[in-house]
Amino acid sequence: MASPAELLATPAATALDLARLRDDFPILSTKVHGRQLVYLDNAATSQKPRQVLERMRVYYEQENSNVHRGVHELSERATAAFEGARSRVRAFVNAKEVREIVFTRGTTESINLVAQSWGHANVRAGDEIVISTIEHHSNIVPWQMLCAATGATLRVIPVNDRGELELDAYRELLSAKTKLVAIGHVSNALGTINPVREMIAMAHSAGALVLVDGAQAVPHLRVDVQALDADFYVFSGHKMYGPTGIGILYGKAALLEAMPPWMGGGDMISSVTLERSTWNVIPYKFEAGTPNIADAIGLAAAIDYLESAGIENVEAWEHELLAYATAKLSAVPGLRLVGTAANKAAVISFVLDSAHPHDIGTIVDQEGVAIRTGHHCAQPAMNRFGVPATARASFALYNTKDEVDALVRAIEHVVEIFG
Ligand code: PLP
Repeated sequence: MASPAELLATPAATALDLARLRDDFPILSTKVHGRQLVYLDNAATSQKPRQVLERMRVYYEQENSNVHRGVHELSERATAAFEGARSRVRAFVNAKEVREIVFTRGTTESINLVAQSWGHANVRAGDEIVISTIEHHSNIVPWQMLCAATGATLRVIPVNDRGELELDAYRELLSAKTKLVAIGHVSNALGTINPVREMIAMAHSAGALVLVDGAQAVPHLRVDVQALDADFYVFSGHKMYGPTGIGILYGKAALLEAMPPWMGGGDMISSVTLERSTWNVIPYKFEAGTPNIADAIGLAAAIDYLESAGIENVEAWEHELLAYATAKLSAVPGLRLVGTAANKAAVISFVLDSAHPHDIGTIVDQEGVAIRTGHHCAQPAMNRFGVPATARASFALYNTKDEVDALVRAIEHVVEIFG
């Protein structure tokens, strides 16, 4: 790895046309508190390019209708666009079959779907579910609820002081009792990229299934669910330049087929009498009611956008931004990074000796810099590092080194105020 001085001396080198890309995001020219917006809260939600907004406008103006049920032209257009979006997602994560892609409201709903449906059908008292210390609450609480309901036990993979999962401890945790391992691909609080491929192979050797929470991975890394051999892989549209309210559950077809539905209603049935109902085929069995048609179509447009920028280019640029920000922030007196894993993506979490994270966030906001402060829905990770909260900057493809400089100036200002 280059020294901080070398990193700071390296000019921006990226295959991305940053000026053109930034122009695609109308919100980036917004002013806040009279200052140019510097948006560094992308791990919470990313901004949306015109291409996504435009695609959704076209949908509502020219194609809007309910899907699957109509014979009229508009319903056919809406169905074609909606099912086309499903195919786009399949290709994006390289699922084997399009029926392995279930539309949900987001990562949280996808995890709850698996916990409720697969979990209640397969987990019994005495079984174990393995998670890690640095999971988002949405990959902790549904498993706690499942354990409480079934009498299963939650086991937790520890992390070292850099925020990397301890794989030896993980190996020890795996046994014939382990039914499922549920792990994040990239930690939203620390930025750690977990070695999920290796961890999945280890879980499979123990006879356990694996759910990967990819909410923070898909915007930054190439994901191939077949190469990973993930049993379930879940993510949200809104963190990858798509709209809110849409997300994905990928599941291997045989698993999804064996799972019972979790919500009942229209579209998820094959037949209904007043005595009993039978279920539709996957993925529709898990999509009760009118789906979020427009946002699924918007998600497909976001995937097109990300792919046209080139996910490998995005990954390389964000890595450069991360290295640059790490070198610059590390030089601020009294600043401590939380999460210094060797393998990190797009997230930098820190605390200051002199100021509480909420004060940091409020002051830098006055200078137009949007960062997140708090526990990032990862309280166990905060407890592990002995902090109640951190300040977190997180990058997207449109961020620049000038914006990192603006963040650093704002943080230096906080240090001046608090001493
Ligand atoms: N998992 C991770 C790692 C996250 O970062 C988030 C959101 O911050 C979630 C899950 C939950 O995503 P959503 O709120 O879109 O359901």
